Amino acid sequence: TLAVDCVAAPDAALVPRVPGLADDLFHHDGTMTKREVRAATLAKLMPMRGAHLWDIGTGSGSVAIEWMRAARFARATAIEPRADRRAMAAANALALGAPKLAIVEGEAPAALEGLEPPDAIFIGGGLSAEVFAAAWKALRPLGRLVANAVTLESEAALIALQAEHGGDLVRIGVDRVEPVGRYRGWRPAMPVVQWSLVK
Ligand code: SAH
Repeated sequence: TLAVDCVAAPDAALVPRVPGLADDLFHHDGTMTKREVRAATLAKLMPMRGAHLWDIGTGSGSVAIEWMRAARFARATAIEPRADRRAMAAANALALGAPKLAIVEGEAPAALEGLEPPDAIFIGGGLSAEVFAAAWKALRPLGRLVANAVTLESEAALIALQAEHGGDLVRIGVDRVEPVGRYRGWRPAMPVVQWSLVK
């Protein structure tokens, strides 16, 4: 017999608790953090029993949902200004076993006011010095903060923030095999610059 800690969906797809779920398990509009980068992001966020995540710029909700799946009683608050994306996040949360995901309408930093302090913060959108400052202030001791950037502007913001506050800066490149006519070739995704630090 095969002992695997995972849930078999009706179509027999394997849906493990370990982060890095297949992208096509989520409803998304193309702006979602891809599985390899998501797995690396969750590793640095360090899901723990009962811990609370702020997912700023949640989009499809993928990071918050994987956080909630990864540890028992893990909680998450997802912040997203766009109604269409909040709807996707809600549908994904329901379908993937995280129905208690709290979804907040609005933009950071204003939308962060009054939220319960987090044990970890992911900034996947809306990064600025002001958003970082508000997030860092609210983060609990030993809290983890991870910010991902794909544009030059947000990358520049991360480089400046890292120079001031320390932490790790890494760049993650993922290439996927795709058809090239009747052959196959590597198609690079946009590289993601990731900054992570512990309070
Ligand atoms: N983490 C997401 C990626 C979403 S793309 C995922 O894995 O699916 C970035 C998101 O940040 C967009 O949905 C955008 O609407 C949102 N965003 C932009 N500025 C924001 C701000 N100031 N506060 C919160 N969200 C913001």
